[in-house]
Amino acid sequence: IGAINERQHRHSADPAMSSLDAIREGYARFDPHAYLQNNYVPPRADFSSEECVVPWKLRCLICGRTLIDVGSGPTIYQLLSACEHFEEIVATDFLEVNREELRRWVRGEPGAFDWSPFIQHVCKIEGRGEPWQEKEQRLRGRLRRILPIDVHRADPLGAPLHPPADALLSTFCLEAVSPDRAAFGRALVNVGSMLRPGGHALLLGALGESFYLAGAARLPVVPLDEDDVRGALSDAGFTLRDFRSYAMPPALRTGVDDRGSRPPHRTE
Ligand code: SAM
Repeated sequence: IGAINERQHRHSADPAMSSLDAIREGYARFDPHAYLQNNYVPPRADFSSEECVVPWKLRCLICGRTLIDVGSGPTIYQLLSACEHFEEIVATDFLEVNREELRRWVRGEPGAFDWSPFIQHVCKIEGRGEPWQEKEQRLRGRLRRILPIDVHRADPLGAPLHPPADALLSTFCLEAVSPDRAAFGRALVNVGSMLRPGGHALLLGALGESFYLAGAARLPVVPLDEDDVRGALSDAGFTLRDFRSYAMPPALRTGVDDRGSRPPHRTE
């Protein structure tokens, strides 16, 4: 849009350029069929090569340069599909133990968590026949920064992200680190500041959860319902595109948290 506006401005400022009337006149002869033939059949629309212009255009529409993952924890499953679409992935976590766990996986150290079943599954559902080891290498290559973060600060990284992220991902973090709904809403505003205007956010989280366990730690979680999340997104200036939910089946309620064990509880 910026480029289009600039071009219109130059036209009006430069009398040698075509007038708007001349452009309209040209468009009067626009032939949709010829246009489609020129641009959207081979050789330009060659899906056998990602280097071809049409696959490149399609990638632009779902890609960006940088994706930031907020509260990555010790996990990389959430980045497996994203790593196909972003040149750089910035992982973040509050805890050094989690950042070190991620670095161990990136370095391929013995004893790092084995994510290979996850990678194999994602390759299967993506359906491109990609060998899973290639995706593993791609993610390792694109995960270049693993940064400390605190979502309760107005500048969660301690300094602005330059340039701001094209997309923001956060899985099971904001509700698991916020004491109440107000803090959840503020955290959403804080993390939103790292995203460029018009950028996309993908949040995965638990509804109606009040705690989860991680070893000796019993972590409180703010129990949210769908309306809480919708309201917080709207208050933080996000436009909601899609909301999906999953009900935890009884067999998966193993006691490590209380997800799905009861409806969200309101305290007001
Ligand atoms: N994203 C991972 C996942 O999907 O399993 C981990 C989620 S874990 C439930 C919540 C994460 O939030 C932990 O890794 C924790 O270290 C991190 N965390 C705790 N306090 C935080 C804070 N103030 N800001 C950002 N992250 C925080």
